[in-house]
Amino acid sequence: MTRKAPPAPLSQAWTGAQVEAHAHAALTAALDYFRIPDHWEVTLCFSGGDGDNAGEVHVDQTYLRATITLNTEYLRTSPQKVWETVGHEVAHIALAPFDAFWVGLPDKTQGKQREQYVRAVENTVVQLTRMWLRDHPDPA
Ligand SMILES: [Zn+2]
Repeated sequence: MTRKAPPAPLSQAWTGAQVEAHAHAALTAALDYFRIPDHWEVTLCFSGGDGDNAGEVHVDQTYLRATITLNTEYLRTSPQKVWETVGHEVAHIALAPFDAFWVGLPDKTQGKQREQYVRAVENTVVQLTRMWLRDHPDPA
């Protein structure tokens, strides 16, 4: 999940088509960067609305599929976040085996442990996103 930052002025807004094209370019580069194997099927979805997130990912470990949903309306006004958000969500796919491990543990529903686990994964994804942005700066 990638939280939203305050949007830029509308004068800098992109069209939805620009956001989608840039997101597809970012996805290709991020899948390569994070070495997501070719047998994974990763799909981009675009939604409008004022949800709390710039993007989120749903991972299906069993069938090796993932769907990244991007908030197009938000990203139109923060186009510099497109590249970062896609990289962030692909980093979540790279760490998805940890989620599969967690789900298999007994007593996984204990609140404090769950919170610590989610925070540790998110902090690691943020670090991986920084590496992505350093090694692959947004070309836009
Ligand atoms: Zn996240």
